[in-house]
Amino acid sequence: MKKPAGNLNKMAYDKNNIFAKILRGEVPCKKVHETEFAFAFHDIAPDAPVHVLVIPKGEYASFDDFSQNASPEFMKGFFVSVQEVAKMLGLVENGYRIISNHGSDASQTVHHFHVHILGGKNLGRLLG
Ligand code: AMP
Repeated sequence: MKKPAGNLNKMAYDKNNIFAKILRGEVPCKKVHETEFAFAFHDIAPDAPVHVLVIPKGEYASFDDFSQNASPEFMKGFFVSVQEVAKMLGLVENGYRIISNHGSDASQTVHHFHVHILGGKNLGRLLG
């Protein structure tokens, strides 16, 4: 896995979180896509007809950590990969939502940065 570019305000990262294990191939997943920067797989408990998670190939605990510590090249590569996944899933024409939870008020449960891609139906307004 790539190392973060900088270390300012680096959050603690648990190398044994479930997504780190998926990246290392220690835990199975339903893979959707992989790039130099990112890995995408189906959420185990989908909240929409299409619910895919995209994670960076690097040790970032959340969006907050990623935005402070990943290099601009890595950030660009990651977010281009997110769009590629949405396109591969056929979501671009009708639309999709991306969500990333940081911290307890957002109910983040897995502390490896991830973007949820949700689609496949009209999702209504944010937060129901
Ligand atoms: P968050 O609450 O934003 O941290 O989202 C974590 C997401 O990871 C949830 O939607 C879970 O359903 C999903 N999840 C947890 N374990 C797995 C797993 N082994 N494979 C796929 N998705 C998972």
